[in-house]
Amino acid sequence: MATFVQKYGGTSVGSVERINAVADRVKRWHDDGHRVVVVVSAMSGETNRLEGLGYEIAGQPDPREMDVLLSSGEQASVALLAMALMQRGCKSRSYLGTQIRLQTDANHMKARIEDIETAKLDTDLDAGIVPVVAGFQGVGPNGDITTFGRGGSDTTAVAVAAALKADECQIYTDVDGVYTADPRVVPTARRLESVTFEEMFELASLGSKVLHSRSVEFVGKYGVPLRVLSSFEDGPGTLITTEDRSMEQPIVSGVTYARDEAKLTLTAVPDVPGVASRILSPIGAASIEVDMIVQNIGGDGTTDFTFTVRRADFDRAHEILLATGQELNAGSVTGDDKIAKVSAVGVGMRSHAGVATTMFDALGHEGINIQMISTSEIKISVVVEERQLENAVRVIHTAFGLDDDAVDEEVD
Ligand code: ADP
Ligand code: ASP
Ligand code: MG
Repeated sequence: MATFVQKYGGTSVGSVERINAVADRVKRWHDDGHRVVVVVSAMSGETNRLEGLGYEIAGQPDPREMDVLLSSGEQASVALLAMALMQRGCKSRSYLGTQIRLQTDANHMKARIEDIETAKLDTDLDAGIVPVVAGFQGVGPNGDITTFGRGGSDTTAVAVAAALKADECQIYTDVDGVYTADPRVVPTARRLESVTFEEMFELASLGSKVLHSRSVEFVGKYGVPLRVLSSFEDGPGTLITTEDRSMEQPIVSGVTYARDEAKLTLTAVPDVPGVASRILSPIGAASIEVDMIVQNIGGDGTTDFTFTVRRADFDRAHEILLATGQELNAGSVTGDDKIAKVSAVGVGMRSHAGVATTMFDALGHEGINIQMISTSEIKISVVVEERQLENAVRVIHTAFGLDDDAVDEEVD
């Protein structure tokens, strides 16, 4: 008898029909004698709808109230799935984050899980009951509801699996695994049999929606076996492994993108020590995350300082930078909120030279201008114009030999 934590995403519980299909699947695993805990997201579109309402009522809604609002989507779906299971003669009970004491820090809308009490879940499992846990939500130090950031139900599932020392955490979604690129953008993308957690963490952090990046952190930290599968069809999915197989891996395992980026430049900044900190400290103090940074010294001894932020933070960052520019007696502030980031990821990069050149050549041939570059041991990211994003993803995918030839022929 094995313990499984199964997570079903928004599309997988998006209608009564889909909830019934999930209940059938869960019951099969339960009837096979396994201990199953289910984690569910809100029905598809529901969290977007709630978020939209929040922003309509208040331009900058209070984060504590946003958490109360956004977490309500999962409250509905856990109850519905528990009912569907009971309807099939399978004992079940739904739980909100507060009820199983899924303890987090106090950071509303981006809380981190600190502890999970497993007593209730263990008692249920011992009694043959299927607990259905609300994804994406926990309880902060003072008892307030917290959420983990969009897509955060994956993290609930992996954290529960770690706490229960489950045999496998299964993320059921609307694709049948992790692909070499988002199959919606690259029709020739291939499903990966397995991917290392380091690569998966980079892919998720750099924009791939298929897994919430914090969920992948748990794989590294607690060694939770994690698999991504389809809730629509049976199949092996993709296993996220903790093995280091960099020597036998392809150079690039996947290509990913992030659309919601923006960049800001402060020109003619005096080239003196401490200036980078003077520019970025007020941005950080406003809780705006800075991603890429480029600084170029011009012929006149001043520097142009460019950095990227999330598009949602663009206007605020622009205002702050205007004030800093005046204080520093710098030149002008320019900005562009129509940029995107494309990244190639692979542990195989560690043992190969010239990987960046392959990527830059491919973009150059296609007439795609690179605006910024950043690299690490296992990834290369470039910023391009947003309108060229999908094309950039496809040419990089092809350049690294990732295309599925069979699909290529069908497309031809
Ligand atoms: P869920 O609601 O089940 O959590 P998500 O929409 O969050 O599902 O994630 C699944 C989606 O992730 C897929 O529909 C796919 O378009 C997207 N995606 C992005 N990159 C990848 C990738 N490399 N492999 C598979 N899917 C990807
Ligand atoms: N319902 C939340 C969202 O849409 C969490 C999740 O689906 O993982 O972001
Ligand atoms: Mg998701």
